[in-house]
Amino acid sequence: MTDEASHLFYQTRNPRPFLERGEGIYLFDESGKRYIDGSSGAMVSNIGHSNPRVLAKMKAQMDKATFGYRLHFRTHPSEDLAAKTAAMTPEGLDRVFFVSGGSEAVESAVKLARQYALTQGQGSRYKVISRFPSYHGCTFGALDLTGYDPLREPFAPMMEGMPKVAAPATYLDRDNLSEDERGLKYAELLRDRIIEAGPDTVLAFVMEPVGGASTGALVAPDSYYGRVREICDEFGVLLIYDEVMTGAGRTGKFLAAEHWGITPDIVAMSKGFGAGYAPLGAIVAPARIVEPVLDAGGFLHGFTYAGNPLACSAGLAVLEELEEQGLIENAARMGDVLMDELRGLMERYPFIGDVRGKGLLTAFEFVADRSTMEPLAPKLNAYDRLVELAYERGLIIYSRRTRGGTAGDHFLIAPPLIITREQIGEMMAILHDALDAFA
Ligand code: PLP
Repeated sequence: MTDEASHLFYQTRNPRPFLERGEGIYLFDESGKRYIDGSSGAMVSNIGHSNPRVLAKMKAQMDKATFGYRLHFRTHPSEDLAAKTAAMTPEGLDRVFFVSGGSEAVESAVKLARQYALTQGQGSRYKVISRFPSYHGCTFGALDLTGYDPLREPFAPMMEGMPKVAAPATYLDRDNLSEDERGLKYAELLRDRIIEAGPDTVLAFVMEPVGGASTGALVAPDSYYGRVREICDEFGVLLIYDEVMTGAGRTGKFLAAEHWGITPDIVAMSKGFGAGYAPLGAIVAPARIVEPVLDAGGFLHGFTYAGNPLACSAGLAVLEELEEQGLIENAARMGDVLMDELRGLMERYPFIGDVRGKGLLTAFEFVADRSTMEPLAPKLNAYDRLVELAYERGLIIYSRRTRGGTAGDHFLIAPPLIITREQIGEMMAILHDALDAFA
């Protein structure tokens, strides 16, 4: 079917070939061409494609029941997945609510926070502070939290316009501060913003612990995380971690929060949680937040497909696979290997200005000048060009405009967590080839 004849549309018309099948870290199109899935799709396929054990467990569930509405039945897959999720997340995070995607997860987290505040007699709290740049989803509530101008602008008049605070883009800072001091400096910006907004009106602060699409695997200095937690506690502001991209092992821990010993008040997950086997997401929160809401009449929220047994059987099989195959540890190990390789790129290509990431969520950013970090001229359209050069050569990478969508290009390299050292070598060879063609 030609593109013109297609009835289907996404952001744009879709010029891509038809997908035939997947196997491990590879995808094959209908012509038989093989691609390394170097970005796990959109950082989704954490355990690789067509895992036979996951498929068998899903098939077994399919043979029993694919749907049972949650108000009519409990199901074992949903109960078991909730228990497994609670067991894999830091202590205290032991209540789980299922959704079907990341935007739903973020909005569910915010709505739970709001209902919790109401139970505490804090109805004045409704503002949710987020960061710029950031990405939290495309439905109105999640978009209002998103710090990415091109996506927000057309819809800005239709949203509240929630307060934003700068994300620590320390690679752009040209001051004499140590990393530690920089982390604290950025955390203080949150404190200032809470005071400015009126502490009694601030419900929550939401952040991606490692940035994703909007910032390209941006990691804050270590000092930032603990100080943000303290500031939220000081003002009774709930700390929501958007781990839609980082959760389920991507960064080398089940939750990225664990790298800094942080227990957020509410965590949103999706992407790697269903790992491409089912549209699935979850919020996880402690009983102290959930129980008062249930006692007060219940969470006024829920999606029809949420917690359906087929999606939950997939999620459960994915978490079992992460554990049994040691994939989270592999993400940490292979993340180090990949990071070394990416740092090597900076020696070879002067237009790569920064390499960053955590575990297998890594990125590099193009610049015109390393000393000023001025972005590579937008007119070069590097973003599309490098992605296309890699795609032609059989490597899928993920790119976005960085710095809030206004300037600069970053490229996310985030292969499935099953990747081996040899496969990283294979991926890097194609990437070098694409970068040579770009240069
Ligand atoms: N939050 C983060 C951090 C994300 O990376 C994304 C998707 O890229 C979302 C939320 C939205 O998820 P979804 O596209 O599944 O709605």
